[in-house]
Amino acid sequence: MQSKRSWAEHRLVFLLIAGLAASCDSQPGDQTLQIIAFGTQVELVTYGGDSEKVRKVGAVIEARYAEVDRDWYPWDREAFSGLGELQRINAALASGNSIDVSAELANLIHRAAQIEQLSQGKFNAGIGRLTKLWGFDDVWREDWKPPLADAVSELIAAEPGSRHLLWHGNTLSSRSTVTQIDLGGIAKGAILGLTVAILREGGINDAIINIGGDLTVLGTVHGRAARIGIRSPLASKMLAWLDVADGETVVTSGDYERYFEFEGRRYQHILDPETGFPVRHTASVTVVHTDPILADAAATALVVAGIDNFDQTCAALGIQQAILIDSTGELRLTAGMASRVNWDR
Ligand code: ADP
Ligand code: MG
Repeated sequence: MQSKRSWAEHRLVFLLIAGLAASCDSQPGDQTLQIIAFGTQVELVTYGGDSEKVRKVGAVIEARYAEVDRDWYPWDREAFSGLGELQRINAALASGNSIDVSAELANLIHRAAQIEQLSQGKFNAGIGRLTKLWGFDDVWREDWKPPLADAVSELIAAEPGSRHLLWHGNTLSSRSTVTQIDLGGIAKGAILGLTVAILREGGINDAIINIGGDLTVLGTVHGRAARIGIRSPLASKMLAWLDVADGETVVTSGDYERYFEFEGRRYQHILDPETGFPVRHTASVTVVHTDPILADAAATALVVAGIDNFDQTCAALGIQQAILIDSTGELRLTAGMASRVNWDR
């Protein structure tokens, strides 16, 4: 049984659901590296490592992120010279051509398709046209307004998703041009996974990697479990905290970060693939798992599932630790989460 002391009594590493992390437990030798990538801030904090090792590993990570930024980006983008791999894949799918896919992206696309099936389509990385129709390829655009309902229903009627994809080895084609791949729902998880691999290979064993609020813990924070806070998405207060073990990932998805407002209404970036419209019933979901890709996809799927389909979707995806806060403030937790979460007083 964990003690339930207040925040102030602990040395803490906060994860604010809004996507901010701050280490409050730094000691000489700890290092913080900040990298702007994937349109967000990545923060890597290493605890007690050798600084030369950290510098070298940091350079490897930065170079790898530049490749990922180019190759996992789905939309047309003028700023980049030359097309990245996912842009080329989507161009091929849109024009009915086949294309050879790298082992890494093939793995991610297979993984996404598997999670799409298990979640009964709540997670669907094939809805790239829909994401673009809603304008979530560029959340900074001004004068945004929602698309016409007819355009949304027309797209949904064509059933975008992995069902159309055909693989011959690593060559991909599609039976329909409606499917465009948007890995936004698993990209952060996958990047956490590859960052952990680089860190471990470089001999760094104690660190926290935080990509816009989604994080993985390696080892400990000076011999103690990393303590991660979960903020209420509906009020500016801390809701709870967790001690997070080596190799665990904590992912939060919700309606507080990426959204548009139009005529007083908020349109968030997680879309219900069944209706084609942004989810309104769920404020946020936090998932803890040792598989960062599953944690990320599951958080997105559970936002779509909502309270009503929470238990069934957790079971289908093999998620033992999740917490959902709906738009009225009602909470739902798995038994595994209930047994480890510490409520803030
Ligand atoms: P965040 O980027 O805030 O961590 P998510 O991991 O939930 O959020 O990913 C949301 C992104 O995933 C969207 O911006 C969009 O690109 C894509 N997406 C939206 N709805 C779905 C869905 N139902 N299934 C899979 N991907 C989705
Ligand atoms: Mg996600």
